[in-house]
Amino acid sequence: MKDNFFDKTFEELSGILSDFDPKPFRLDQVLRWVYVKGADDFSRMTNMPKELRGQLSDVLDLTPLRLLEEVESPDGTLKSLFQMTDGELIESVIIPEDGHKTLCASTQAGCGMGCSFCETATIGLKRNLSRGEILAQIVCAVRRLGNRLALRNLVFMGMGEPLLNMDALIGALEVIIDARGFDFSPRRITVSTCGWVPGIDRLGRENLGVNLAISLNAGDDETRNRIMPVNRKYPLKRLMKSIRGYPLHPRQRITFEYVLIDGVNDRIEDARRIVKLLRGIPAKVNVIAYNRTSAAWSRPDDRVMNRFQEILMSAGLLATVRKSRGGEIGAACGQLGARAAGGMNA
Ligand code: SF4
Repeated sequence: MKDNFFDKTFEELSGILSDFDPKPFRLDQVLRWVYVKGADDFSRMTNMPKELRGQLSDVLDLTPLRLLEEVESPDGTLKSLFQMTDGELIESVIIPEDGHKTLCASTQAGCGMGCSFCETATIGLKRNLSRGEILAQIVCAVRRLGNRLALRNLVFMGMGEPLLNMDALIGALEVIIDARGFDFSPRRITVSTCGWVPGIDRLGRENLGVNLAISLNAGDDETRNRIMPVNRKYPLKRLMKSIRGYPLHPRQRITFEYVLIDGVNDRIEDARRIVKLLRGIPAKVNVIAYNRTSAAWSRPDDRVMNRFQEILMSAGLLATVRKSRGGEIGAACGQLGARAAGGMNA
């Protein structure tokens, strides 16, 4: 069985290449074909000797993800369902925004965090993705869009809790940021967590400069315990201490995602608690309407959402009501269920 090309560090790739061809520039040639041009076959690398292309093709797999289904919503959001080599399924979503595209990538197959507003949670955790499986989602998006530069932002908000797959995530981020890899500015990358405190601390120590997003959803422990089990392990006081320690560049802000659920976390006092909680933090709050994945809950009406936003803004917080994208095809926040049998959760 061939190895996933994207699981190899540049050093490892260099070692493999030098076994076949000692010329030092070969590594840069291969990396350019794969990460810039999105080549999915060594035979396309026409500026390299045919024999070398054949040798590489025998040992390295450039297509470790098999596209099972692709669904596009009327707003242009594109959800892709992939099968990995062991049969497990993941989804990633390309979201069009103001003339550019954002890729929402997964870091785990399923998720074990149990957030009660989230479809992925219903699958449970199947397994962590390897760094190569994380990177392969980006290369699939580059191939789909035909150009690396068509992809502007990268958010790890797909299936799974990224900070519970830290080594693979850090390994992938190094290639994503590297000029010989995908060459993304760290400012264009966001890692989102439900509040896994040791992961926030480690990501801060790694000091990669990437943006941090927190799925917050409540300003008091009682409500947050109810909808996000992680809060019982790391309550708000502990979480906020960790967030305050995350290194920020000037003008960089922490993003707080707040999914508004009717009658659960949408009261005036909930908004006031958020104001108090985020005091002194360079913050941006994205208020998102709950995407119905459970019959028990629904989204509040627009009036309530606007009131919530106004309370935050009048206290000086930067707050947006984020337009949910891809709701019709089950690609919106909290809707990634990676269900192949019977189709995607459209
Ligand atoms: S919201 Fe994120 S962390 Fe929570 S269950 Fe869903 S995928 Fe997991």
